[in-house]
Amino acid sequence: MTQYRILVTGSRDWDDRRTVWQAIASTVMASAPSTATIVVVHGDCPDGADAHAAAWAAAAQGDNRRPVIEEGHPADWRPGGVFDRAAGFRRNAEMVNAGADACLAFLAPCSKPSCTELKPHPSHGTAHCAELAEQAGIPTRRYTA
Ligand SMILES: [Zn+2]
Repeated sequence: MTQYRILVTGSRDWDDRRTVWQAIASTVMASAPSTATIVVVHGDCPDGADAHAAAWAAAAQGDNRRPVIEEGHPADWRPGGVFDRAAGFRRNAEMVNAGADACLAFLAPCSKPSCTELKPHPSHGTAHCAELAEQAGIPTRRYTA
């Protein structure tokens, strides 16, 4: 069974569902072989782009036009009960290493109160994931709010 894997990475406060849905749908139409199972790979965050990607997968499963699988990669933020600030970056590497045919990155501006870098700049986790995907040779498309 052939798979076509779409890695979705995005900011937690990316609230524009329409752009996420259109990006996934047009990637499927333009690039996925017609017999392939679509695998939507995402970081399993309950908010933002991950949630919109998960909702797209559920809707596409519901319309039954082609097989769609959802593959969530939740970050382990509190291994052993201790907060781990690098968990998101590790999770991103895990998603990229799992392999993908395309990466869609939805970059909202960084809104971290503790961040001292010159603003505006895109949220760090998403920017990092898009970079990793590109380094791995995965065609990557960036969307900004
Ligand atoms: Zn920042």
